[in-house]
Parts: sequence; C-alpha cells; structure tokens
Amino acid sequence: MASVTLKNISKTYISKKEKVKAVRDLNLEIKDGEFMCLLGPSGCGKTTTMRMIVGLEDITAGEIFIDQKLVNAMTPQDRNVAMSFETYALYTHLSVKENIEFPLKAKKVPKPEIEKRFKRVVEMLELEGLLDRSPSQLSGGQQQRVSLARALIREPAVFLLDEPLSHLDVTLRTSTRAQIKHLHDELKSTFIYVTHDQLEAVSLADRIAVMNFALLQQVGTRLELLDFPVNKFVADFIGEPAINFFDCTLEDEDGVKKLVAADGQLKIPVPQMWDKEVTKLDKKEFTIGIRPHDLYLKAEAGMAKISGQVDVFEFLGEESHVTLLIGGEWLTAVVNPNEEFDVGDSLDFFVPEDSIHLFDVETGHCISTEIKLKNKN
Ligand code: ADP
Ligand code: MG
Repeated sequence: MASVTLKNISKTYISKKEKVKAVRDLNLEIKDGEFMCLLGPSGCGKTTTMRMIVGLEDITAGEIFIDQKLVNAMTPQDRNVAMSFETYALYTHLSVKENIEFPLKAKKVPKPEIEKRFKRVVEMLELEGLLDRSPSQLSGGQQQRVSLARALIREPAVFLLDEPLSHLDVTLRTSTRAQIKHLHDELKSTFIYVTHDQLEAVSLADRIAVMNFALLQQVGTRLELLDFPVNKFVADFIGEPAINFFDCTLEDEDGVKKLVAADGQLKIPVPQMWDKEVTKLDKKEFTIGIRPHDLYLKAEAGMAKISGQVDVFEFLGEESHVTLLIGGEWLTAVVNPNEEFDVGDSLDFFVPEDSIHLFDVETGHCISTEIKLKNKN
C-alpha cells in the first residue's frame, strides 16, 4: 500500500504549432488506501495527471512521491502502480487469457497464485466466454474489461483507473462499478480513478478532486463539495439534479435587504450571517445557488419562501422532480414520490437560509462557503 503526493505538478505539451498547458501547479495528497476520484470535463488534464503518476509522461515541473519516495526519475515498472487506460493498450498477438496473465508471468509469479488471481478477475468482469479470443475480436466494452482485468490482477500498491467504465453498457457499468468498490474494500490499496461522470465519482470515492481548465478546483468528500463548494463550477458540476442558479440584485425594500431575481418574482431576504460580508463587498450584483434537495414544501423558522407555477412534473420512482416557472426562470426541486402536482399549479417552496449558496458574479467565487468556513473556525 502507498500514499501518492503530487507537489506543484505541471505539464506543458510543446509541439511545433503551440504550447498546451495540460496541468497547472497541481497539489494533491492521496492517502494510503484512499479511493480518490479525479473528476472534471473532457480536456481538463485528468489523463495527463495519471500518465505522470504512472511514469508514462515527463513532468514539466514539480515532484511526485509514491510512499514518500520521489519517483520523478523512476521507470513505470519500478513504481508499483498499475494503470488501466481509457484507450486499451492490449497486446494484439496474445489471447485475452494471455493478456490478463501477462503482468504476472513477466514478474515470474508462481503458477498457483496466477491461477487464483486469474479466476477471480475473470469472474468479476464476466470474461469467461472470451478467454481464447484475440483482442481484435472484441467490442470496445469487452476490450475495456480485459484491460481492467489486466490491471486488477497485478494487485499493486496503487491502481490508476482512467475512465474504466466509459465503453460499458449501463447494466455492466453499474455492476462493474460495484465490483471495483468491493475490490477496493477488500484489497485496501490506493485507488486513483478518473471520470467525467459525477455520479460515478460520488458513488465510489472517499474524496473527489474536481479539475477544470488544467487547474484543481477543490478536493473534498461528496458532502463537503455539495455543502461547501469553493466556486460556481464545483457547485454546478456536483449534484443531481444540478443546482439552480439565479442572477440577482441587492435591493432595499422598506429597510430590509433582499436579493431579487427572476424579474422581481424571487426575493430572498439577506440572511443575517451574510449581512456583514455583503455590505463590506459593496456590490449590487450576485448569483445565488439553491440545490433541488434543499427545497421543502413546509415552512420552518429560518427558511425563505419561493413561489411559482409548476411547469414540469416528473415522477421518477424514488423521488419526483418539480420544475417551477418563476418570472421566466426555472427552479427544480426534488419532492417525495407521494406528492403530486399538475402543470400550472401555484406552489410555494421553502429553502433553509443556511443552505443557499452565494457567488461573486464575476469570479464565481463562493462567498457563502467562505463565510461558513470562517464561522466554523
Ligand atoms: P482529460 O483526460 O481530462 O480529458 P487530457 O489530460 O487528456 O484531459 O488533456 C489535457 C489537455 O492536454 C487537452 O487540452 C489535450 O488536448 C492536451 N493534450 C493531451 N495529450 C497531449 C499530447 N500528447 N500533445 C499535446 N497536447 C496534449
Ligand atoms: Mg482522459
């Protein structure tokens, strides 16, 4: 087992035509035995980060430590890490069985041990019927499972999995995801797992590192990212259904400061805990964010009221989604499945003031998270 530490890691690809800054000054500490997800949109630098950890890519600047040892100059073989790529580099001249066994045979692992581990990964990834085939006779999803099996069979100190489920169909994706989680619980190795799918990240990870435009945005548990996002990007990327944003103006109504949005139809009295900070900022424009799960049908103390007309009602089994139309803007709320509404109904929702997120319009910085963290300390 091993910890992985990235210190001020940067990667710039230089070609004749241009320089691409793929990763900028990344600092990240992955604990021994932790399941860490790197989450972010396509092109944000996730694969590049993984390739630097495994040793397939030179590091432009910074240091990588595996188990406190500086590995910058070490070959991939010496790092005791295994990677399964989103593009499956399988050996085309070997059968599926030979591909999977290859890493253990190369290391001269005793035959009974190879057989034991082989049986386990083959069962896990449902590869029984494919063992004698050549990789060229496999579909994308099947190749991906073989590539995953070849990484898993090594049982290394650190597993690097780069979008390992992206080519699987939905059923197999769900079951393989559960098996990966199970494998982590069992092996207690360190896992670094790349995905652009936030549902995959929240269901697997101990902590999630959110990246965008080559920059690490925030690292935290699912709940930390949901409740204390550092900026609008993180608030938007995490959470299903997505957070509702409203651009609003700070107004004074009979001596009460209010954030007014949606053509005057949505008015949130400025919560007391924000008052000092909002006054200090001396700005008129803000963005507020309200999570669909933070909206309630019953009022309680410390809640703000939001009214509108039902525009969409979706019954989804375990929960239902209601979308209200408020002054030309939409707000989605999650409600209990035993609630039912008709399109056009007038409806009031109530949101606890301390669950509303407040953002700087220009920078996207989350002002309310900063206030919450300050009050906590
Ligand atoms: P992700 O895995 O998050 O989708 P990548 O790490 O693959 O992102 O890519 C990050 C950025 O680096 C992208 O802009 C990509 O086009 C660029 N990039 C990746 N590999 C190379 C390369 N070998 N040469 C030049 N640019 C590259
Ligand atoms: Mg990638």
